[in-house]
Amino acid sequence: MKGKIVKGIAGFYYVKTVDGIYVAKARGQFKNSGITPMVGDDVEMQITHVQDREGIIDRVYPRKNSFIRPPISNVDMLAVVVSAYEPKIINYDVLDKFLVMAESKETDIVICMNKLDVADEKDIQEFIDIYKDIYPIYKISGKTGEGIEDLKEILKGRTVAFAGASGVGKSTILKKLKPEAEIETGELSDKTGRGRHTTRHVEIFDIEEGMVYDTPGFTSFDVSVTDEENLAFMFPEMSNYISQCKFDNCRHLKEPGCMVTKAVEEGKISKRRYDSYISQMDSIREKKNY
Ligand code: ZN
Repeated sequence: MKGKIVKGIAGFYYVKTVDGIYVAKARGQFKNSGITPMVGDDVEMQITHVQDREGIIDRVYPRKNSFIRPPISNVDMLAVVVSAYEPKIINYDVLDKFLVMAESKETDIVICMNKLDVADEKDIQEFIDIYKDIYPIYKISGKTGEGIEDLKEILKGRTVAFAGASGVGKSTILKKLKPEAEIETGELSDKTGRGRHTTRHVEIFDIEEGMVYDTPGFTSFDVSVTDEENLAFMFPEMSNYISQCKFDNCRHLKEPGCMVTKAVEEGKISKRRYDSYISQMDSIREKKNY
């Protein structure tokens, strides 16, 4: 039977099938193959006990993509949440790291601006001017619910993960999207007798026809998601210029005949975004030399 892993706790996987949820373990021989099932995996499962809803996972279907922290797979879209007021005015550096990570995994990307009810109009506008031609931006308020219905529309039929620095209000948005999500978590935990409040874990919940990852959050970055040569391709607004640079191996730093730096000078590429590019290039080079 085919299913999708929607939650994993200590070697037990909650597999969602057309027939409801089963709790399964991974078959020993395939564990030895080095593949560890993760939340988001589409799997082939054998039911071992119908009454107790137990099964065993025989194989994991090829993944579209996968992330390490948090360990999730098959993400169609990453919704990057930024806060337009607190904890502070938008942290562009962190945001651009999330965006590069998402680009490297070839997911669709949207930006959610949260906490608009307390945001300063000028901060919002500055932000929108930089990103509006690069990614779809959704203005939402997890508190008042503004924009939540629009957000639901784009989630339909997709598996979506929310990313963002701590304090930007991811969980408030998730609660607005699915107010009953916490109740379901409690019920599932009870089945294993592990209590209601287990450690923070990764889980998927349904939102109408879409699936949303409820994760402890993307908290750390792996700069090795890309390399020197490909970093510029993770900045979509640079892609038109890259091929016109004088040198094929241009890294768009101080090379003569670089069309990217020219576009920055002419204001066609945001200086802020270019600064993020430089900063990430530095991180990649530091790691290489380490
Ligand atoms: Zn260049």
